[in-house]
Amino acid sequence: PPDVAQLGRSSWTLLHSITAQYPEKPSSEKQAETSTFMKTFAKLYPCWHCAGDFQEWMANGNAPRVSSRDEFGRWMCEAHNAVNVKLGKSVFDCGRWEERWRTGWKD
Ligand code: FAD
Repeated sequence: PPDVAQLGRSSWTLLHSITAQYPEKPSSEKQAETSTFMKTFAKLYPCWHCAGDFQEWMANGNAPRVSSRDEFGRWMCEAHNAVNVKLGKSVFDCGRWEERWRTGWKD
């Protein structure tokens, strides 16, 4: 079985990086394929209890929000926070997702 923590770090890097490169004004085709990607990702994620909980979170009022880069980045941050809460980790400030994953921290 995979190392769930290592798999998680790598996967969040991939997922947040996808949001960072997402268009500010995505076409409707881009939006549709992105929603499909996230639903498929949640089914194929190779930690089965993680995948089950992620699918359930999406089904319970948290369908992917893909109308713009900022919406998608915030949605991904909220998805990650749902796992952080489940694991007792600290919640990330989603107002700063872009600084962490796209533009770099300003300090
Ligand atoms: P990670 O949580 O991997 O975070 C990596 C970096 O992302 C952090 O250092 C921080 O800089 C940044 N970050 C943290 N939170 C946010 C946020 N909300 N938004 C943006 N950036 C952020 N593990 C389990 O044990 N059980 C599970 O059920 C489980 N489900 C998962 C479901 C999915 C879809 C994924 C991708 C991972 C899941 N994991 C699960 C793995 C878990 O989320 C962590 O990746 C793992 O515990 C390693 O944690 P970490 O503390 O190294 O940092």
